[in-house]
Amino acid sequence: MIKEINLCKTATNNPCSRAKNALPAISGALINVFSPHHLAKNIDRFIDMVFPKKCQCCREVVQWDGICPKCWSRLLFIRPPMCKICGSPFDKTDQFDLCTSCMSGLPVFDKHRSLLSYGGSARKLVLSLKYRKDNSSAMFIAEIMLPMVLEIAHKVDYIIPVPLHWTRVSKRGFNQSALIARHLSRFLGIPILIDSLTRNRKTPSQGSLTSHMREKNVAGAFSVKSSSSKMISEARILLVDDVYTTGSTINACSEALKLTGAKKIIAVTLAKTTKLKI
Ligand SMILES: [Zn+2]
Ligand SMILES: [Zn+2]
Repeated sequence: MIKEINLCKTATNNPCSRAKNALPAISGALINVFSPHHLAKNIDRFIDMVFPKKCQCCREVVQWDGICPKCWSRLLFIRPPMCKICGSPFDKTDQFDLCTSCMSGLPVFDKHRSLLSYGGSARKLVLSLKYRKDNSSAMFIAEIMLPMVLEIAHKVDYIIPVPLHWTRVSKRGFNQSALIARHLSRFLGIPILIDSLTRNRKTPSQGSLTSHMREKNVAGAFSVKSSSSKMISEARILLVDDVYTTGSTINACSEALKLTGAKKIIAVTLAKTTKLKI
């Protein structure tokens, strides 16, 4: 009997022994399940189940933050050759450094680069950012813009988003350029000045205006707050906006910043209207 009990205690396939052996494993598993790491992972899974991630262009369910492969294939990246100042893409046959627009009159900003040609998925991405206040869209946009920004924005002191008039911010609830600029600021570790540049008057939407009308529409519309003028003076600024059409908005902002003494203005946008076809 004693022998049997001993056997019971020592046999590895004995139920008592298995349960005893399993206890540390179960408690270990429970500790794992309730560990901060696993809890966070499970909460993430739960959130993904209830609120699945969606492509920011076509709203198809995807497994990651960003856009689906089909929409990615409809992004047209602007590549050289391009105008050295405003970043307008050239035909392969063009042999000039500057585009006709920059040759006929240099812009106030020192350099501008846009990542994408406006159209296809780039347009959908901009609209998703503008009308859905999708912070994950803003982060995705900042992420894809980052290599381009790193290439052109050396030794920048501050990041400034192109401002909206306060009535538009209160109606929409946010400034889409500020959302992108905040993420760029975080990625680059460069301070952002959100309120230093202001839009003094409500300007009609630039959408239906000609190039000359756009210029007139935004001329003198921006100014630097007097409390920020000391900071802006002699500073190198990275100006951020979502779309570049004729450059009149970026130019008017640059004018206000340079009038305050800014040393250099590098502007970046997600998309630019071009002749390129997707
Ligand atoms: Zn898609
Ligand atoms: Zn140009």
